[in-house]
Amino acid sequence: MSQSGERGKRTDRLVVLGGRGDARGPGQVWLVGAGPGDPELLTIKALKALQAAQVVVHDGLVSDEILDLAPAGARRISVAKRKSRHSYSQDEINRMLVAFALEGLNVVRLKGGDPFIFGRGGEELEACREAGVDCVIVPGVTAALAAGASAGAPLTPRGLAQAVTFVTGHAARVGEDGAGEPDLDWDSLARPNQTVVIYMGVSMATPIAARLIAAGRAGSTPALIVENASRADEGRVVTTLAGLPQAAAAITGPALLIVGEAMALAQALPLLQSGREGPSAEEPMVRRASLKLSGTTGRATIQQVGLSLSSPRSTLRSPSGPPLPLRGKGKGAAR
Ligand code: SAH
Repeated sequence: MSQSGERGKRTDRLVVLGGRGDARGPGQVWLVGAGPGDPELLTIKALKALQAAQVVVHDGLVSDEILDLAPAGARRISVAKRKSRHSYSQDEINRMLVAFALEGLNVVRLKGGDPFIFGRGGEELEACREAGVDCVIVPGVTAALAAGASAGAPLTPRGLAQAVTFVTGHAARVGEDGAGEPDLDWDSLARPNQTVVIYMGVSMATPIAARLIAAGRAGSTPALIVENASRADEGRVVTTLAGLPQAAAAITGPALLIVGEAMALAQALPLLQSGREGPSAEEPMVRRASLKLSGTTGRATIQQVGLSLSSPRSTLRSPSGPPLPLRGKGKGAAR
């Protein structure tokens, strides 16, 4: 996808991909999805764009391993949100991208996951359009897809989920008690046989679970939390909707909350223990959700009970290893 403005008379995109070394002519902004973390989940197009970058403007979710794929001479600018130092506002980022491109530079705006899934990529595209700067969007693997893949839990398995919905748990409304909570369509999210993936929802796990249960979703609905999906420090907790708040309390990194009958298929992976207050790696940490389905969809009957994990994390899988086999009914070994 490309947007050309008045200055956008370029026909040389392939030349840009091949790595133009100077800064003549109009520059261009590449809005690139860096995927969830594992560099092997970059697209070939994202890799080519990075290799041809003169400036890389990236946010905090992008790993050094991926940034190192840009030429050594490319200027790197982090616009990650920081507690102690100045954080760039979205407006400042927009202006920065446009200014570099107007200087004739090939700018890669590198964003975690996909630029158009809760990434404010649309605002950056709009700023380029308004300034007449050519902007190319390179989609990326969004965190939800990586989380389902590594947990071995399809987001829409036949018979268990007819739909998957991505929502933001970012607080959008402040209640009477001054506490924020997401402003979501709880009635629709509470319907059974759908998977709900909540981005930016860890700190809101308590009101999210309470609202979904109040709207009619069973507290026993399987739920999964995936932290650092696809990264070496990935951790996964299999729980239930009612258990989400307690499970979320042990999470410290970027994580997704996933709720739905399909999460009964998910495989847990202990969280890394460093600096956490969560359960010790030596203790049983998660208990697989119990689920019996019948009737409404008629296709699946799943019962998974009482599987506890006690293995030290160091003996467990590497997230970049082969995909986990999907299991059918009954017990299976956690990894
Ligand atoms: N554009 C990104 C999402 C940005 S919003 C994408 O498509 O994935 C930021 C939120 O995404 C985080 O708060 C977290 O909920 C989720 N997230 C991003 N990377 C993640 C990862 N590797 N593992 C788990 N969740 C992740």
